[in-house]
Amino acid sequence: MARPTRARINLAAIRHNYRYAKSVSPSSKAVAIIKANAYGHGAVRVAQALEPEVDAFGVACIEEAIELREAGIKAPIMLLEGVFTPDELEMVDQLGFMIAVHTQEQLDWVCAAKPSKPFTVWLKVDSGMHRLGFAPEQAVAVYKQLLACEAVGDITLMTHFARADETSSDATALQMQRFKQCTKGIEAPVAVANSAGLLAWDMARKDWLRPGIMLYGASPILDDKSLEQALKPAMSLESALIAVRDLEAGEPIGYGARFVCDKPIRVGVVAIGYADGYPRHAKDGTPVMVKGVRTRIIGRVSMDMLTVDLTDIPDVKVGDPVELWGEHVLANEVAECSDTIAYTLFTGVTRRVPLVYEN
Ligand SMILES: *Cc1c(COP(=O)(O)O)cnc(C)c1O
Repeated sequence: MARPTRARINLAAIRHNYRYAKSVSPSSKAVAIIKANAYGHGAVRVAQALEPEVDAFGVACIEEAIELREAGIKAPIMLLEGVFTPDELEMVDQLGFMIAVHTQEQLDWVCAAKPSKPFTVWLKVDSGMHRLGFAPEQAVAVYKQLLACEAVGDITLMTHFARADETSSDATALQMQRFKQCTKGIEAPVAVANSAGLLAWDMARKDWLRPGIMLYGASPILDDKSLEQALKPAMSLESALIAVRDLEAGEPIGYGARFVCDKPIRVGVVAIGYADGYPRHAKDGTPVMVKGVRTRIIGRVSMDMLTVDLTDIPDVKVGDPVELWGEHVLANEVAECSDTIAYTLFTGVTRRVPLVYEN
């Protein structure tokens, strides 16, 4: 006896997607990005599943990295934004994390530190995203400072793309060009590609890849349907019908009467709502699968429930299974109907939803 709502996490799918990322650029190493609790999939379990074959893990902050070490993960871990305060460097040294350096402040902290062994540093250059990183004209000087700094060992060059998912934009090629130009003459490994970068841009397949969203089976390149075949969705958000009712034409459904029946409709109530992370902004018509049949959401999503059209599904009854997103209804489809992206759907699944692991 339990609320039927859960997110099934297929760890074999995540391993498949990691291998697919590597297969796109076999000579590259990859940092599997598992920040934000592995995009909602559970960082420790995902790390354990990938550890035997992964080159490194990437997280957003030291708290996320410590969680992995405490769970026994021994693989290299990279802090994508580096440290936020200088006192973190002691833990970075103790636990052997790799760190991004993207500001003069971080550079000063690192160079002033006395670690037991030199830090592995990823020097971040801003090639056009204009969020983090040193300006292109500073790149060589900062690299030289790092080289001269006793606390620093290996150095990798990194940058991040703003529009790698837009395959017909020239923005990514421009960022690459600017990055190459400003790092000319520096002998160091290069890491530039997120999922979209490595999938769509040959020129971005360098020494290191940084796949994130693709590990979880959602393609960042929405107009390339072949990627939907290549990647396996890792999360299936599931629930079940808890009520079925027949409504006459003209009857409204749910808060605000957003949907009004245009004909007699059999309506199912599903035990999942926005408090579970299902987007409240999902429009009427958002796809959903009930008992193996694709149908649509009708009416506004409530906190704990939502309503679906069962009219064309034979013999449907209370207890029948519902997939909100997963292998049959792609998270990207739900995202598109909710004016968002798969990233927010995955990271938005709340604590109330148990994660159930397979493999
Ligand atoms: C999150 C992140 C990634 C992964 O991006 P995806 O689009 O999920 O593949 C790569 N690099 C950096 C620096 C990131 O912050």
